[in-house]
Amino acid sequence: MKIGFIGLGNMGAPMALNLLKAGHAVNVFDLSAQVVQALVDAGAKAAGSPKAAVTDVECVITMLPAAAHVRSVLSADDGVFAGIAKGVTIIDSSTIDPASVKAFAELAVQHGNTFVDAPVSGGTGGAAAGTLTFMVGGSADAYEQVKPVLSAMGKNIVHCGDTGTGQVAKICNNLVLGITMAGVAEAMSLGEALGIDSKVLGGIINTSTGRCWSSDTYNPMPGVIETAPSTRGYTGGFGTDLMLKDLGLATDAAKFARQPVYLGALAQQLYQTMSTKGAGRLDFSAVIKLYRKDGKDGKDGKDGKDGKDGDAS
Ligand code: NAD
Repeated sequence: MKIGFIGLGNMGAPMALNLLKAGHAVNVFDLSAQVVQALVDAGAKAAGSPKAAVTDVECVITMLPAAAHVRSVLSADDGVFAGIAKGVTIIDSSTIDPASVKAFAELAVQHGNTFVDAPVSGGTGGAAAGTLTFMVGGSADAYEQVKPVLSAMGKNIVHCGDTGTGQVAKICNNLVLGITMAGVAEAMSLGEALGIDSKVLGGIINTSTGRCWSSDTYNPMPGVIETAPSTRGYTGGFGTDLMLKDLGLATDAAKFARQPVYLGALAQQLYQTMSTKGAGRLDFSAVIKLYRKDGKDGKDGKDGKDGKDGDAS
């Protein structure tokens, strides 16, 4: 297929790479020339705007930070709707609020297109390995149509229901994730303060009832999991500001549904504090820096409080 891909960050770049590996022709656009060049080196075609990226394509995929970016990429003068042919499906894999999804889907219908929400879970590792889970919101027909394309980037392609329900699933998952990461950070820091070796503690938790993804894959304590962002200075993972955004989506949705989210609201404040301290671009597991004693909050001794020693997003 000929695909237009917009947003080549920590997630988008490896996802677009997997489309190329699967034999698709991919036009790419991002505000960063550096990330575009990396994809061009791998066989993609660079476009000068979203409009140019979607001209003559059979499918469009967006992977952007937040709803405001999706809105601008879709509706700007040189945006997607200015260049897309009728009948082409737009798949948005960004994590955004369900209400924006519905508004974008209505706009798409006005332009003769279909808009499907397909946010992902699996992190940057899953994006690189092509093992992401896609949570798809849209009609059964739209789901069948996008499934083959998404299969080049993911292992589980789940139809969640109507437009917007993919985002509902994603927001609920990240509510759990934000809370479990803070919980693991708290426990690992307590263990360190009480004198147990972090690798031993991590190993125990990971074979005990405390085991979770935040502990066995992304453990926030440096050195416990060699492939985790914590072991590389909290770089290249899921940015703290993105987690903060997702917890904001959850608490906003909860307000709308008149549903309490006690732990989610508290976790939101922890990531807000990290962001305020200038660590918004570090991986969200850097939340452990709020717990660890001075001089023990990073592999290299730097603490990231000035936001200059990491770049997670
Ligand atoms: P990122 O910040 O690494 O990448 C976003 C990319 O979008 C950047 O390259 C940026 O230059 C580009 N961009 C921003 N505005 C643009 C515009 N107007 N036109 C073109 N490009 C533009 O973010 P990410 O980590 O890749 O995450 C993307 C989305 O996926 C977010 O919604 C995030 O919540 C979600 N997500 C991330 C992860 C993760 O582990 N990083 C996991 C699941 C879901």
